[in-house]
Amino acid sequence: AKDRGKNNYQYYNPKLNNYSTRRMKLEVELRKALNKDQLTIHYQPQVELSTKKIIAVEALLRWNSPKYGSVSPAEFIPIAEETGLIVPIGRWVLQKVSEQQKQWKKAGISSLRVAVNVSVRQMQENCFAQDVKQVIKEHDLNPVDLELEITESIMQNIENSTIVLNELKKLGVTLSIDDFGKGYSSLSYLRHLPIDTIKIDKSFVDDICDTSNNGSIAKAIIDMGHNLGFTIVAEGIEQEEQAEFLKGNSCEYGQGYFFSKPLPAEEVFLLLEKGLDR
Ligand code: C2E
Ligand code: CA
Ligand code: CA
Ligand code: CA
Repeated sequence: AKDRGKNNYQYYNPKLNNYSTRRMKLEVELRKALNKDQLTIHYQPQVELSTKKIIAVEALLRWNSPKYGSVSPAEFIPIAEETGLIVPIGRWVLQKVSEQQKQWKKAGISSLRVAVNVSVRQMQENCFAQDVKQVIKEHDLNPVDLELEITESIMQNIENSTIVLNELKKLGVTLSIDDFGKGYSSLSYLRHLPIDTIKIDKSFVDDICDTSNNGSIAKAIIDMGHNLGFTIVAEGIEQEEQAEFLKGNSCEYGQGYFFSKPLPAEEVFLLLEKGLDR
């Protein structure tokens, strides 16, 4: 076979298992992806649970690689983080999202908040807050309509994160903690940061249908979060029962396949015009 050479290489290097060779190949491809237009963004609606109105969308990266097909962000984001590629990719996402938001505004959709995922590595670049400021100005956005989702891992470098988050808050953007509960950080600690919103991790939403848990953790996060002044969003809602439970326990917003999958911008636009028929 023509791949003989490569296979031999693999064979003589036991450390290069299938996992790491795929990873290296993906890294090579990912370096080209940005310049070759292989990345796109889908948007998943966020819904007010009491009215089913779409109040925001979350921007989620999609990578269509000519070699590997559609690669999940769960697989390529960690590679992008490790290699530092997340910095240019993240900057591109911010740019694209702002352009999209400007277009939606022109088309008559006023004040739709767009949430963007930000990696710790990206946030800790010196120029991050400056880039955000620039992109808001360039597209004439209302800063509150830009939401930045960060994870609890910012706690690892709390001094620097506090400085950057305060800078971002001064710009007027909305700040949220993604996957809350997964990183075991305490809610009371977050109180010292300029955070607006807590996103309850999907695993606790899954628990709602689990008879041994009955959503007790989700409920506890909602109650404590409210006491500390946070708005609560639940993610990964797949069933009506979960949406009802969360609504009944005063969770303001929800997101998940039950309402809508992440969609291309054009499809979100149609959904925004006609609303969610549920
Ligand atoms: P995340 O930020 O926690 O995003 C939620 C993930 O759950 C998304 O997966 C979304 O498609 C999926 N999801 C939404 N509703 C449901 C549901 O009801 N059921 C199930 N099973 N899944 C649901 P996706 O798009 O594959 O993204 C995976 C992760 O990749 C994201 O998790 C985020 O951490 C990261 N990511 C995606 N786009 C970006 C980006 O632009 N920048 C950065 N830094 N990370 C990103
Ligand atoms: Ca997110
Ligand atoms: Ca999340
Ligand atoms: Ca997640």
